[in-house]
Amino acid sequence: PLTAGIVGLPNVGKSTLFNAITKAGAEMANYPFATIEPNVGMVEVPDKRLDRIQELIPADKVVPTTFEFTDIAGIVKGASQGEGLGNKFLENIRQVNAIVHVVRAFDDDDITHVSGKVDPLEDIETINTELILADLEAVEKRYAKVEKVALTSKDKTALAEYAVLEKLKPALEASRPARSIEWNEDEQKIVDGLFLLTSKPVLYVANVAEEEMADPTSGAYYQQVADYAAKDHAEVMAISARAEEEIAEMDDEDKAEFMELQGITEPGLNRLIRTAYHLLDLRTFFTAGGKETRAWTFHAGMKAPQAAGVIHSDFERGFIRAETVAFDDLDQYGSMKAVKEAGKRRSEGKEYVVQDGDIMEFLFNV
Ligand code: GDP
Repeated sequence: PLTAGIVGLPNVGKSTLFNAITKAGAEMANYPFATIEPNVGMVEVPDKRLDRIQELIPADKVVPTTFEFTDIAGIVKGASQGEGLGNKFLENIRQVNAIVHVVRAFDDDDITHVSGKVDPLEDIETINTELILADLEAVEKRYAKVEKVALTSKDKTALAEYAVLEKLKPALEASRPARSIEWNEDEQKIVDGLFLLTSKPVLYVANVAEEEMADPTSGAYYQQVADYAAKDHAEVMAISARAEEEIAEMDDEDKAEFMELQGITEPGLNRLIRTAYHLLDLRTFFTAGGKETRAWTFHAGMKAPQAAGVIHSDFERGFIRAETVAFDDLDQYGSMKAVKEAGKRRSEGKEYVVQDGDIMEFLFNV
């Protein structure tokens, strides 16, 4: 399964955030063992549309969809030159599909900062430098190999890779991540094959002070991170890891009261989960009308048979068609009957590209 990896310097709040995530996950009825491994946690994707579907088409059970976070601990500085632990850190990042980069954006004299002062930009660059150096090394190695073949044999595949490497090298040398370059579809395949660290999508999470949780984007530290993210082709959000950990431990009543006090409508964690889910290019379709109202995860761009296969491989193999209703149409018309009468229920075939929010019923041969 796809996983989002949490990285950051020591003492910035990674474990706190990961705890909040797994605690929220540990309450899930369907996943009593939310922590698969010490550093892997399963989370539910909060989705208000599920409640609305359940309201209109009641079922015995509501089942949200889930995905994984991985907590990537380990040393950071010098990792790209490091043996053992350093390499392990980079190897662990290589395994994840998106990077959630936690940055300290709170002052607290009691919590030691590795470099002695709170400086979000310096922190970010400490990590990014290691990632860029590791990629540069990989690209240079590959370059040395491919250049000769490309220039002597004029082999098409080698030439195509050579052209990609020629673009990557100067970018990395100028400290720009691989994701900052725009690729066409063929080039993208070549880039994917290089398994670079800086081609993965990134979300910067500014870990702000608890006092800022009601208005987490108001602080100067956050602003610095946001400006950096915009230039770095990355996304950004602010959260207070400590406050989220506390919220995750509360029962529903306390939670509601606490959030009202803070003037927020949902935990920041929900936003983090949704943002990471999107970063992984994941989308949701629903099934309803049976025993359960359920959300399912698919990759953006998947066609109907593949999406059916998410539920069961038999559904994909024997796929005939998918009776499809957009969530917004159900929401607007209020019942499946009314949707049908309005002509908004669609019969979709094998080539249909599933849309986020589709409510689907698959017809298949056994
Ligand atoms: P990690 O090394 O990145 O995993 O960092 P931890 O999650 O262990 O956090 C390091 C210390 O910072 C712990 O004592 C946390 O309680 C504290 N911490 C984490 N988030 C916050 C925060 O938002 N505000 C304050 N004041 N302390 C925090």
